[in-house]
Amino acid sequence: MRRKSRAGGMNLREKILRVLRSYSPDKIKIATLGSHSALNILRGAKDEGFETICLCRREDAIVYKNFGIADKIVELKEFDELLSKDLQDLLREENAILIPHGSFNAYIGKLDDLEVPIFGNRKLMEYETSREKQREWFLRAGVRIPKEFESPEKIDRLCIVKFQGAKGGRGYFLVTSAEDFKKKAKEILSRGLATEEELSRAEIQEYIIGANVYFSFFYSPVNDRVELISIDRRYEHIDGIGRIPAKEQLKLDFEPTYTVIGNIPLVLRESLLKQAFDVAEKIVSVSKEIAYPGMVGPFCVETVFNERAELIVFEISARIVAGTNVGIPNSPYSYVLFGENMYMGRRIAREIRLAIEKDMLEEVIY
Ligand code: AMP
Ligand code: AMP
Repeated sequence: MRRKSRAGGMNLREKILRVLRSYSPDKIKIATLGSHSALNILRGAKDEGFETICLCRREDAIVYKNFGIADKIVELKEFDELLSKDLQDLLREENAILIPHGSFNAYIGKLDDLEVPIFGNRKLMEYETSREKQREWFLRAGVRIPKEFESPEKIDRLCIVKFQGAKGGRGYFLVTSAEDFKKKAKEILSRGLATEEELSRAEIQEYIIGANVYFSFFYSPVNDRVELISIDRRYEHIDGIGRIPAKEQLKLDFEPTYTVIGNIPLVLRESLLKQAFDVAEKIVSVSKEIAYPGMVGPFCVETVFNERAELIVFEISARIVAGTNVGIPNSPYSYVLFGENMYMGRRIAREIRLAIEKDMLEEVIY
């Protein structure tokens, strides 16, 4: 059984290419799940002249109808209906290319059964669900990362306990010792913020005190270059803590979490950009070794700058992140680079358009 599924996995790219070759290049449509960064993606597709399809949950249809950026709306009960035969048939008939985002990771997970062309590299997207694999990627790239603690007993400094996958920081907590870990883990479990299994697979990472910066890059196979599209920082539940004076904080018994609520655009000191480009180039270079054909399209490098303004990477997402929503219709960086309105959703559609024109579509699809 296992061998069979592995063989299926090996043939996946061939299957996808076969589907892609059955498409008429001038009839290609852009499709995505209605959530996360769908407004960004669909607006971008329209700006580049594509017809669009939005697959959304029934209750969210009101949002996508309201914005008028979906030429076709398909209502679903749950996002994982995307894997159903009927829906996949429909997408193939429509000549659709799917643009994956955080909800593909969060609500669907493994994309091996999805035989519809995806923009980007679905193998690299899977790295997001395994912190161990990400760590390997970073180590091979030689980028600086926080220290990792194998077990709670080894904790000797301020650490952050993080769960696997794109959970948007939900349930993360800070600990300073093994006892502290035990106490807080119990609390997290009783509050239903994580399961025993999730807790046992959680990553215990040195907490880097500093300024968080999220870089959204785009690797363009058409232009063969890394492009900085926008920078943001997150607005998280814990950010509210600063509104309560320390005196009151001490009297309260509460655990703030890192649950993300939104994003705030950011412009970096120009002298710090070099470190970010350096890391992005290294990450892209190693991506080609670990998952053919390597990075394609959007990726986000999540970092903290420490007290010496040194960049430390704590996570990577090999897809569009919701932080790029702050860059519509442009960010200072995309404007400098393109001299026109450019944002991640549009940049993706532009790459597809250029790839169609240059007969390079097979290089940006998996
Ligand atoms: P949603 O459709 O809002 O449930 O988002 C899908 C997944 O992406 C969830 O796992 C969220 O935690 C994550 N997500 C959504 N928005 C953001 C954001 N602005 N920053 C980081 N993660 C996010
Ligand atoms: P992540 O799920 O890895 O994107 O982390 C969610 C949030 O936790 C980030 O936005 C940061 O605020 C925080 N965080 C994660 N890892 C670290 C770290 N090693 N040091 C400091 N803050 C972190």
